[in-house]
Amino acid sequence: MTRQTALSVAQEQLKLAVEKLELDPGIHKILKKPKRSLIVSVTIKMDDGTIGVFDGVRVQHWDVKGPFKGGIRYHPDLTIDDVTALAMWMTWKCAIADLPYGGAKGGICCNPKEMSQGELERLTRRYVSLIFEYLGPHRDIPAPDVYTNEQTMAWIMDTYSQLKGYSVPESVTGKPVEIGGSEGRVCATSLGLAFCAREAAKFLKLNMKNATVAVQGYGNVGYNAASIMHSLGCKVVAVSDSSGGIYCSDGIIPSAVYAHKKKTGSVVNHKNCANITNEELLQTKCDILIPAALQNQITKDNADKVKAKIVAEGANGPTTPEADKALHEKGTCLIPDILANSGGVTVSYFEWVQNLTREHWTLKEVNEKLENKITKSFYDVQKLSRKEESDMRTAALMLGVGRVAHAITTLGLWP
Ligand code: NAD
Repeated sequence: MTRQTALSVAQEQLKLAVEKLELDPGIHKILKKPKRSLIVSVTIKMDDGTIGVFDGVRVQHWDVKGPFKGGIRYHPDLTIDDVTALAMWMTWKCAIADLPYGGAKGGICCNPKEMSQGELERLTRRYVSLIFEYLGPHRDIPAPDVYTNEQTMAWIMDTYSQLKGYSVPESVTGKPVEIGGSEGRVCATSLGLAFCAREAAKFLKLNMKNATVAVQGYGNVGYNAASIMHSLGCKVVAVSDSSGGIYCSDGIIPSAVYAHKKKTGSVVNHKNCANITNEELLQTKCDILIPAALQNQITKDNADKVKAKIVAEGANGPTTPEADKALHEKGTCLIPDILANSGGVTVSYFEWVQNLTREHWTLKEVNEKLENKITKSFYDVQKLSRKEESDMRTAALMLGVGRVAHAITTLGLWP
């Protein structure tokens, strides 16, 4: 099976947007590369007394509209190229959502499943201390991503605050509510995704009640997406994680599968379900497919086997450009990542605003603001896609890249 790298996908997408928008080649040159890439060696004492050395990165793509913003990922296969692609996508995502941020992404090449809480805490704190000068509420604000969570964000806040000498809750988002996190942040990406899927379903005249759903990945985004879709009346027929997937034509109860995963470490072997592979999950007969794991899952090799009417991208970069084309040609409605999963960064922005103003909003306020914002972005992209007679990815890229290019041109180059 051929796999395109996330960075080559991101570059191909940028080129397409630049051509469609007829942008100055100089702007293309600027946007192709990140403004800053930090590579650090994260050294910690392991529980057995040995020294562990891990590669850490933080890529800051462009920040013309405000401070950098983006998640921190812990994964054994993490590469700087992947992180660079993820940082670029954050830039376009923030621009589409009209947030005053630029895009960044970071992470550490490690296997958190094989590390203790103590090792993960030391790893996080050492990493933050190494990139400290380039972080901050007006410079770069991290958030959770794959295999990092609220606890990781609490360690980041505390390390940043200790080094500053005073508490700085606005230095990171996705923290626990008790230390300044926002209501609704944990479910925000999945709720935003559900709002987008709901609007797309209206166009396809698809009734959300009883619509069938398959979800790849059962972490923060995947599990919450399955739960929310279930609560909207959809039938979640298949879910998966890194160990494999399960299928049940009658539909699963997301919370029961979550409890099973907590107990056994995986969703597989859940009662009354057939075990399936991740490849089979993507090909499941369903109305809505939600990839919510890693990049590069729907490729030219399996796009023609995707049966869903709507693909709502919870993950970043799950579909390659060739697969995009194949899905568009067969009439699949694909809601691209830079729109579909922007609920996470949107509520991160709400969290940052609440921290800066020392306010605390209710869950109702947060969810209403999220619904208004993401629904507006959905229709901004839809309108452009109809005008351009393009798929939604192309329209979303044109909107995001166009806004950033306009800001660069307006600001000019210094000196
Ligand atoms: P997570 O660590 O909470 O969950 C990741 C899930 O993916 C786990 O269930 C894991 O088992 C599964 N997984 C890992 N490798 C897999 C594989 N090869 N095949 C199938 N499943 C696999 O991470 P998350 O925060 O839910 O992030 C998932 C995706 O959503 C990522 O692409 C991330 O960039 C994107 N995203 C997350 C947020 C957020 O707010 N957390 C926001 C926007 C986008």
